[in-house]
Amino acid sequence: MDEVRYQFRQTFSTLGIMAFFKNICLIEAPQAVISPFPRYISDCIGICYLAAAVEHDVESLVIPENYYNDGLYDSFRALLKQQPVDLVAISSMTGCFNNAVRLAEIAKEHGVFVVMGGFHPTALPEEVLKHSSVDAVVIGEGEATFRELVLKGPSKEVAGLAYREHGGIVHTGQRPVIGEIDSIAFPLRSLRPRRYGEKGGDYSIDTIYTSRGCPWSCSFCANDTMHKGWRGRSPENVVEEFARLHDPKKKKLIKIWDANFLTNIKRAEAICDMMIERGLTNFRIMTETRAKDLIRAERILGKLRKIGLSKVGLGIESPNARTLELMNKKNVLDDVSRAITLVRENGIGAEGYFIIGHYTETVEDTLVYPEFAKGLGLRQALFMSMTPYPGTKIFEEYKSEGNITSFDWDLYNNFCPVVSTRSMDTPTLVQMMVYCNVAFCNYRSVLKRNSAGGVVIAMLKDLFQLCFLMRVNKTLTDREILDTMFDAFLRYADTKPVVSYRCRSSDKKLKGPIVVSVQRSSGDAVDFMLEQRGEDRSLSIFRRSETANRVDAIVRLDEVVAASGSLSMDSLMRLLYRNELLRNNPGSMAVQLFSISADPVFWRVFRRLYTLYAGSFRKEHAEVA
Ligand code: SF4
Repeated sequence: MDEVRYQFRQTFSTLGIMAFFKNICLIEAPQAVISPFPRYISDCIGICYLAAAVEHDVESLVIPENYYNDGLYDSFRALLKQQPVDLVAISSMTGCFNNAVRLAEIAKEHGVFVVMGGFHPTALPEEVLKHSSVDAVVIGEGEATFRELVLKGPSKEVAGLAYREHGGIVHTGQRPVIGEIDSIAFPLRSLRPRRYGEKGGDYSIDTIYTSRGCPWSCSFCANDTMHKGWRGRSPENVVEEFARLHDPKKKKLIKIWDANFLTNIKRAEAICDMMIERGLTNFRIMTETRAKDLIRAERILGKLRKIGLSKVGLGIESPNARTLELMNKKNVLDDVSRAITLVRENGIGAEGYFIIGHYTETVEDTLVYPEFAKGLGLRQALFMSMTPYPGTKIFEEYKSEGNITSFDWDLYNNFCPVVSTRSMDTPTLVQMMVYCNVAFCNYRSVLKRNSAGGVVIAMLKDLFQLCFLMRVNKTLTDREILDTMFDAFLRYADTKPVVSYRCRSSDKKLKGPIVVSVQRSSGDAVDFMLEQRGEDRSLSIFRRSETANRVDAIVRLDEVVAASGSLSMDSLMRLLYRNELLRNNPGSMAVQLFSISADPVFWRVFRRLYTLYAGSFRKEHAEVA
């Protein structure tokens, strides 16, 4: 921006005659590597809040198209050529920061002022401003600071800002969080780019924040840096937003993205009562909360189920009380199993989140995680890697111990170990993460199959999932993925596991044992033997060298790993998204199935799977090994 224009705009904006910035482009920087889990619930909601804050102050607001496929950068370039933009606002988490810089550089090529906000710039404003493509950083909660920046331009009068001036950095001082939380305008969802054929205001998978912040301060969490304590919106205000999302004809999946939705039980109950009274119940809702809060919420679990709550995520983190204490996680392990039982009794699913790699933990400590998770009665669990996000206490703890092994922000996504512990190096943590997933798997879909073909299909599904989880770690080669997975199976086989299942009356009876072998090219193999005795089925897992069983099919792990690498995660997300729609709206199954099968990605995935499936039954494989 040239100096004369700058002065002119600053004078007029100071007089309150016009906003300093008038044409604004907002972008949420995408994760460097798409992780399979949260992708289809990331939905630009944060920048829609910013858009709503300045909606009536500016001439234009835009988000680039193609956010949900590979075309974001080209869309952004084209947009900057086609229409006037004088401010680009980029929101960035740590794992997105390299992409945020890439977007800022594109904006700078077009001479546009760039402001960044979000968790990463809040934690490291000076670091971020070292990038010449970034002009200013919004520190902390964004709406009020962003609006003042838009109205006044970068100025010492705008609290909560850091910006470059005359070769130095100006900090304008801390801005308190917004006290009157109901005064925050609803996010401008209509601005969102098309996603898998759906318009921005009408996504069938959406998110809502009914509160901000958290009353706790776990050492690995950056929530407190941004939000400073818990603030709940009034039930009336929350229900009004739910009413705008509600569609009686299409069941939507809504993630209540609060840190702890059940912090105030009375408020949660009032939200349920109003939603039930207004018939706002055509939702499938997921949220996260603490075990203790779930126990406190016992009497309203039925109401939560009525409004559509179908799954709660519980941050359990570790089976080790000493580790929980060091993490400042005020969790009592006894509460966790009680909470899981309660939600189950009310028809609500529970998913446990665990963090492996606390600096005090050892391999022996980590190996007990999967059994502990199973013992709690969990059917779903995520084993994540301790990630020292800037702005958290553990960032300082790991840094001071010299235990951060990578500052490549692309790896900061909870699934790529970037630390070592006092006794485990980073590759060992990768192995532990994979082991926990292999050993936790209940192989339920395998246990329900009645033929070797069915078992192979179910196993391919589980193996693919594991491959995609590992592919999030861009440092791993195919060879490393293969060996780490296989070693995890070998380690698990050495515990001589037998997973069992009580058949239902509708299940067929197995005629004889089915043995499917998972092999790697070096020749070693792990066998999976499915058997039935009476009503009970069991799946035994063991090293091939210890047995001389007949093999019905062989799954070549090298081929599975290679096939998983040939599929684009973006495309897979498109399929997963449609699958979610189908799951929520089974009534329109025929239409949905037709639309899925019209997608070329479906056929690409189908062909890969079929090739692997058919390969498992090649004649030479069906011999006695
Ligand atoms: S991890 Fe959860 S409970 Fe702990 S501070 Fe963060 S949001 Fe709060």
